[in-house]
Amino acid sequence: MPSIKSKKYIAKPSDSREWIIIQSKSGLAVDTELSIIDYHFDCQPKLVEVNGEKIYCSQLCCYAGCYVSEKKIKKVEEILPKIKPLLQKDSIDLLEKVNDQIIVPEDYDKEEKLYKTRTAPEEWEFSDEDEEEDEEEDTNESESLENDTKDDDVNEDEDHELPQNHCIFLTDKGLCALHQHYNDEGINWVKEKFNICVCFPLDIRPQDKTLAFMDDFDSFMFLDVDCMSKDEDKKIKLGMPQIIDSMKYAIVNRYNLEWWEALSAFSKDYRAGKIDLDEIYKEFE
Ligand code: SF4
Ligand code: SF4
Repeated sequence: MPSIKSKKYIAKPSDSREWIIIQSKSGLAVDTELSIIDYHFDCQPKLVEVNGEKIYCSQLCCYAGCYVSEKKIKKVEEILPKIKPLLQKDSIDLLEKVNDQIIVPEDYDKEEKLYKTRTAPEEWEFSDEDEEEDEEEDTNESESLENDTKDDDVNEDEDHELPQNHCIFLTDKGLCALHQHYNDEGINWVKEKFNICVCFPLDIRPQDKTLAFMDDFDSFMFLDVDCMSKDEDKKIKLGMPQIIDSMKYAIVNRYNLEWWEALSAFSKDYRAGKIDLDEIYKEFE
């Protein structure tokens, strides 16, 4: 099988040219989506101006709650008395009404075996109509993004509808109460926080040995924000790092440092044009 070898990695063909298997020296091989290799991203929650008002950008990504495993739900239920004082009043009121149940039982993802956390002041509801509208907006957005060179987080000339709900764990300072709690207690939040919230927008699956973007990650935000801009040049101008560097903590935690170093070395070679995909995939075409 054709492969490219260097001191730090071996790169081998995957099932499609959009992916590559990167193997570290000690043999850990992870099937990696190529598009993450040159994508700038950094999560730095900050105030952004929308409709002339300053809001925390986390309101635009933590609006619908998140899908979490039963194991993590149990762990959070145990520490809920410590978390509650950090929450917004509407989250505390809601939890009181539902006997401190942090998830919506009927919102269960059978395929992934995950439940969704609640949102306050009431449950976030999706409808088919919303999805149709979203699709229409996505088409319009991608058309308008081609001409959008503004440096603002969101287009300030337009009025935007803002999410009315938020994950129950989002604090009034735009931070995640769980993240804050783990930091305050000196606990490693990368291990403890909900998987999706640690890894977003990456989908890191050690059980399958894969590393990719989450499905539709770039249309998930309520409004356009810099961290998810489709304009890579704009993000470079803003000094945003490559995603594999800013999210090193998550990749190292889910795999290991040696594999991250293999990924990093491959990525540098790939961006420098030193990787010949035709050579790697020659037997597949
Ligand atoms: S992912 Fe982006 S929008 Fe969400 S908190 Fe981080 S920087 Fe803000
Ligand atoms: S648990 Fe925290 S990071 Fe995850 S959606 Fe809720 S507020 Fe955001």
